Amino acid sequence: MSLSPNLRIDFPALDQHVGGKPLVYLDNGATTQKPRSVIDAVARFYERDNSNVHRGLHALSMRATDGYEAARARAAQFINAADPAEIIFTRGTTESVNLVASSWGNTNLKPGDVILTTEMEHHSNLVPWQQLAARTGATLKYVPVAGADAEHGLDLDALDKLLTPQVKLFAFTHLSNTLGVLNEATALCAKARAVGALTLIDAAQSIGHEPIDVQAIGCDFMAFSGHKMAGPTGIGVLYGKKALLNAMPPYQTGGGIVVNVTYEGATWKPSPERFEAGTPNVADAIGLHAAFDYLDALGRPAIAAHDYHLGELACTALAELPGIRILGPKSGQKRGGLVSFAFAEAHAHDVVTFADQDGVALRGGHHCNQPLMRKLGLASTTRASFYVYNTEAEIEILVKSMRRILKFFA
Ligand code: PLP
Repeated sequence: MSLSPNLRIDFPALDQHVGGKPLVYLDNGATTQKPRSVIDAVARFYERDNSNVHRGLHALSMRATDGYEAARARAAQFINAADPAEIIFTRGTTESVNLVASSWGNTNLKPGDVILTTEMEHHSNLVPWQQLAARTGATLKYVPVAGADAEHGLDLDALDKLLTPQVKLFAFTHLSNTLGVLNEATALCAKARAVGALTLIDAAQSIGHEPIDVQAIGCDFMAFSGHKMAGPTGIGVLYGKKALLNAMPPYQTGGGIVVNVTYEGATWKPSPERFEAGTPNVADAIGLHAAFDYLDALGRPAIAAHDYHLGELACTALAELPGIRILGPKSGQKRGGLVSFAFAEAHAHDVVTFADQDGVALRGGHHCNQPLMRKLGLASTTRASFYVYNTEAEIEILVKSMRRILKFFA
């Protein structure tokens, strides 16, 4: 089953012109557009059900609570978690990683322990571990990315050497937001488990593009953001195994997470309430529920086939351009639905500005991967990233726009 090009009409934001040209939105790695069903779900909540959750016995509060908890159950189903209590709503991937780093990390790590991550991580799955290492005296180590002339995959021989019993956590990205590299999550988790390490997967770039089954993958934690999978901004998920979560202290404290409070102290509810202090983002959780439904109605295998095909196609088409350097897997190798590239002659910020004149929305910069960029000898790249509504015709427009820019800078 392939995706219908008619689904573009589900996304109101696509129906506009930029610089007099039809919008070609290729900045989906940063955030995706939202279908009407998601926008309507958020609006309907505010129009009819708006109330605080968990604390009221009136009709609106009960409807809001039901909607919020239904979103949690749907999130569990979406990633095949064993229990809705394994789903914590956060602001997004960044907050989910910080939650684990603070709550699990502060209580479980000591000098001599190792946190293992990779050289291809987004700052959101890197800086929290640096900070955790500094707080606890643990050591942070990186699995190298194979060198400039390779396909920029993880160096698996180095990983095997780095995975010692001192490693307490291996945190890695499922799909690199800059390289387009798809990591073999199941195999990586199995390797970590073999030395007794926990695993955290940053699924920010994969969650909206392919089927994800946390039990089959065998990870202990997974982090993702709603806004990169057709859902609202300001809502995301931390998945964690229930026994682990219930052994962790709260990340933030306040109302909603306590069983009993005295002037001397407090006792905590189990997960998920333990990790959701204060009034949660009810409206956007309900919008995220609509996004899960939307993606499953399209079919995630079909989404993966579509998006990853566009990634490869763009890679092949762009490779024809003079002086281009394309990062990550080359044509024929498995890459996600994004391609990141640099021109010898033109800076990424100029490329993105010129492309905007053609109605093409791209991203230019270090993509929150500064150490990786430095390692690859680059200051920045231009990135085109694809989603369900993008078409092969839009890749032609992208390439045409790049040719125009190269002519200008020649
Ligand atoms: N991890 C990866 C791989 C990402 O691409 C991003 C965002 O670009 C993040 C983490 C951070 O996500 P958020 O800003 O939604 O917290």
